[in-house]
Amino acid sequence: MEFPENKAGIQPVRFGPESGFKFKCHKEVRCFTKCCRGINIILTPYDIVQLKNRLGISSGEFLAIYTVPQLLEKTDLPVVTLKLLDDEQQSCPFVRDDGCLVYENRPTTCRYYPLGVASLSHKEDADGEGFYFFVDEPHCLGFEEDKEWTVKEWRKDQGVDIQDEINAGWTDLIVRKRSFPANVQLTEKTKKMFFTTCYDIDQFKEFVFESSFLKLYQVDDKTIQAIRNDEVALLDFGFRWMKWVLYKIGDFTINSEVAQKRQERKK
Ligand code: SF4
Ligand code: SF4
Repeated sequence: MEFPENKAGIQPVRFGPESGFKFKCHKEVRCFTKCCRGINIILTPYDIVQLKNRLGISSGEFLAIYTVPQLLEKTDLPVVTLKLLDDEQQSCPFVRDDGCLVYENRPTTCRYYPLGVASLSHKEDADGEGFYFFVDEPHCLGFEEDKEWTVKEWRKDQGVDIQDEINAGWTDLIVRKRSFPANVQLTEKTKKMFFTTCYDIDQFKEFVFESSFLKLYQVDDKTIQAIRNDEVALLDFGFRWMKWVLYKIGDFTINSEVAQKRQERKK
């Protein structure tokens, strides 16, 4: 999720799932944890869910303490990046001498490294085939090791195939918006709605269950049960709802009687 144009040392070579490379990272390499400093990591919705659960805090607290909001270039959509420490090396807040404090729940970008995924930054990924590039940074000595991988093997080994599947609806929202003309702007209200739905899952859950949302939209009992108990189901529901809100694509049905009453109240 890095922006290739902002990063020195990136070889702009398009990689596909079967492309091969040599790489191995382990605690004995001299550069151990160097890649966890001075970085730009866009957090995916599922990254946030995993990290806030790992830390035992709400999504709102996680966003306030550990992230910086931004607008994603050429999309006008909000994203959040990991807030780095204010030390000399701009360290990740989770890096320790013996490695990553949240390794099992580390963000998607950390799992992909030394690969970068281009779906958020390149229109060329619209074919959905997967488009990756090599983050060949001079400080990384993992390239001197002999272990061979294909991109597909690396993604499976690092668990990013599962992450990507869960985040697919969010990636789709961004890729669609990127293909719109630049002058198609979103209202502040819509951007805020996108932010809450995609990144602040606890707030979104409260919105769904404690506002008139479930009166306004016709949602079946099975879906209600799933989104009440399962955060991955809630994320997916949110992505589908945003797709309907932003692009009018999908199967959300409005209860017209409730909608009409709301309109009348607004008059
Ligand atoms: S810089 Fe490369 S080899 Fe060194 S710790 Fe990071 S990923 Fe591993
Ligand atoms: S989350 Fe972990 S792997 Fe990722 S940059 Fe921070 S310390 Fe490194």
